[in-house]
Amino acid sequence: DALIIPGGESTTISKLARSFGLFDLIAGRIKSGMPTYGSCAGLILLANKIEDAIVGQETFGGLDVVARRNAFGRQVDSFEMDLEVKGLSAPKFRAIFIRAPWIESVGNQVEVLAQVSGHAVAVRSGHIFATSFHPELTGDNRIHRYFLDVVCKDAIKVSA
Ligand code: GLN
Repeated sequence: DALIIPGGESTTISKLARSFGLFDLIAGRIKSGMPTYGSCAGLILLANKIEDAIVGQETFGGLDVVARRNAFGRQVDSFEMDLEVKGLSAPKFRAIFIRAPWIESVGNQVEVLAQVSGHAVAVRSGHIFATSFHPELTGDNRIHRYFLDVVCKDAIKVSA
């Protein structure tokens, strides 16, 4: 009914999806409106276009953004910060960025929900939601709640 694509390593996830015969199935389901949330590598896999990709790197796509892999630097440059995220009630969200991407540019249907130094790090476009950071590493479930209570609910209304 819905899918969360977690963090990890985007090139590995797409290669595994190919070798298990899941790639086209997942891409097709996303395209046909399945609510989908991607964090970090998951965001990269949802982007229609990526910068600093490896040669031949594929994405499921669906999200009209250009994502830059490893944009904040190497693994040692990973960081945490309190982030204002549109759609979440106070306090700010403790966002954990692990060799994270940022979003270089967005299409006009894409709503930017959070930014770091002028770069989008949380976005929503209809049934697709993505963050550069890892909300599952905190005890705070507001990002997952937003996906279930806002993005998935809206998608059910659209298809009803
Ligand atoms: N740097 C990883 C990639 O390009 C993403 C890191 C993460 O998911 N924490 O796929």
